[in-house]
Amino acid sequence: MQLQVIGSSSSGNNYVLTNEDMALVMEAGAHVNQLKRVLDFNITKIAGCLLTHEHGDHAGHVKNYLRAGIDVYASQGTIDALGISHHRLHPLKAMQKQIIKGFSVLPFDVKHDCAEPLGFLINHPDTGTFVFATDTYYIPYTFQGLNNVLIECNYSRDILDENVRNGLATSIRDRVIQSHMELQTCKDFLSANDLSQVHNIVLLHLSDTNSHAEQFRSTIQELTGKPVFIADKGSQIQISKKAF
Ligand SMILES: [Zn+2]
Ligand SMILES: [Zn+2]
Repeated sequence: MQLQVIGSSSSGNNYVLTNEDMALVMEAGAHVNQLKRVLDFNITKIAGCLLTHEHGDHAGHVKNYLRAGIDVYASQGTIDALGISHHRLHPLKAMQKQIIKGFSVLPFDVKHDCAEPLGFLINHPDTGTFVFATDTYYIPYTFQGLNNVLIECNYSRDILDENVRNGLATSIRDRVIQSHMELQTCKDFLSANDLSQVHNIVLLHLSDTNSHAEQFRSTIQELTGKPVFIADKGSQIQISKKAF
């Protein structure tokens, strides 16, 4: 399947994994009209939309999604924090697998400054197994049998410290450290997992000011020996099982 990146930054996160017959949406941080355009207005093929948490850059457009008839899945804490109720809004629980129209989704808890954030371990016959985790300063798990990895790589401590020396408020630095994934943490996560069956690695949600896309990409590529992609707005990345 093809991952289409509609947005991947603090100004809006929205991803859709799609083939001819079906689509799985991650996050609702861009207007549903953008999603419709990417899918050539064929939104009936959408299995559902997974939300990691309630922050506006991930869930700000969720009402449009529900109104468009898209089923949305999130933790109860996220649903409560959003303050909306709708018959298409479905609660997920960490460590309780849910089958969403052919996609097996195992939510897991992550570490972010919000109510009840989740990451997702997803399996589909076309994609194999992949992890999707963003807005987490750490991932307390390792995973078996990964075929693709979609993970936040938000900032590097060096760039963040340099920005503080150039006037960035220390309160902002502290918030970043307590909510987003640093480059070395991302490297540690990848090193802790068995990547032998991994096809592609996608780096999500790079900070506009505290990251360096090419440096992050090449660092992770050198570490893992895998093709590494930055989830830039508009990019399309293959998420499938590797042909060994
Ligand atoms: Zn975010
Ligand atoms: Zn957030």
